[in-house]
Amino acid sequence: VSERLRLFVALELPREGRSALAGWAAEVVPLGVRVVPEENLHLTLAFLGSRSAADAEAVSERLALVAWPPEALATAGAQWLPERRPRVLAVSLSGADDLAALRDRLVASLVRAIGFELERRPFWPHVTVGRVMRDVRVDGRREFPVPVPQLSMHPAALTLFASRTTAEGARYEALARVELAS
Ligand code: ATP
Ligand code: MG
Repeated sequence: VSERLRLFVALELPREGRSALAGWAAEVVPLGVRVVPEENLHLTLAFLGSRSAADAEAVSERLALVAWPPEALATAGAQWLPERRPRVLAVSLSGADDLAALRDRLVASLVRAIGFELERRPFWPHVTVGRVMRDVRVDGRREFPVPVPQLSMHPAALTLFASRTTAEGARYEALARVELAS
């Protein structure tokens, strides 16, 4: 069996936080921008790309060893990216030091487990809340009619997801989950 899986490790967010973010996005996005469904909102810590089932298994086994609940995550503004020709609307989450530490532990574990190679750009904790439809142009400098809600939330779980493309957009399946007490 040589099935490849598109994998990423993310923090799951609590329902109230997701619901507030999706509600805000629905209020502010212009025509031609799809709001990410509430159940899909997450904070990606590491994108693993196309991987074997054996790699998924190896990551699943180690997830509990790196999980350590970070402090509450706070929303910190929103931005269209890339600014010149936006494809997504994202809400930043303020990276408490222990969020960076959790991410560092995860990356170190992924390097050992599956030879993960870290992308070069710096870690920017965010939640993607909107996606610009193909051929639609959005002005990335335009002000938001409603400010981003100021939220503080404890991540609910550290999860290995497989992402599958469907006609309705990406579907994420949790392959392994470590609940985080808050
Ligand atoms: P879609 O691409 O179908 O519109 P999606 O971006 O949510 O939806 P994936 O592309 O499978 O689905 O991405 C899964 C997660 O990994 C998302 O959080 C996405 O932002 C992140 N991601 C995807 N590609 C990369 C990449 N090259 N580098 C860093 N993170 C990535
Ligand atoms: Mg994508």
